[in-house]
Amino acid sequence: MSFERFGIVSFTSQTKVNEFVDRLYKGKVSGSKCKNCGAAYFPPRADCCGCLSSDMDWFDIAGTGKLISYSTLSYAPTGFEEELPYTTALVRFKNNIQVFGRLSKTIKPEEIAVGMDLVVSSVELSGGRISYEFRKEKG
Ligand SMILES: [Zn+2]
Repeated sequence: MSFERFGIVSFTSQTKVNEFVDRLYKGKVSGSKCKNCGAAYFPPRADCCGCLSSDMDWFDIAGTGKLISYSTLSYAPTGFEEELPYTTALVRFKNNIQVFGRLSKTIKPEEIAVGMDLVVSSVELSGGRISYEFRKEKG
């Protein structure tokens, strides 16, 4: 099951985890969108909580987002100990999609600022696990 290779443990319920992970391996960070009413979700949902439709489609989180908030952690949940310290962040992309994830370590702590532009991309972690992280647009 490919979920075991995905680094973020909280993506368990109400998500199409396997396909989400498969898409990460293809370099795509994806949410789901309701074909019926157009509501968009991240993390992806199998059902729309707006209109209860199960007719969902995938979309990729693309373009540049804005950092809304962040927190640097020196304690990590099981599976992340080797990654310390790291910074978790909430980033708002177009269509008001909010994505929670980690900041790339290529971003220096003194560079981190609310409102900065970030892109999201998939990243391989130690042990062949896959996740995604936020980076600066260039470099
Ligand atoms: Zn809907």
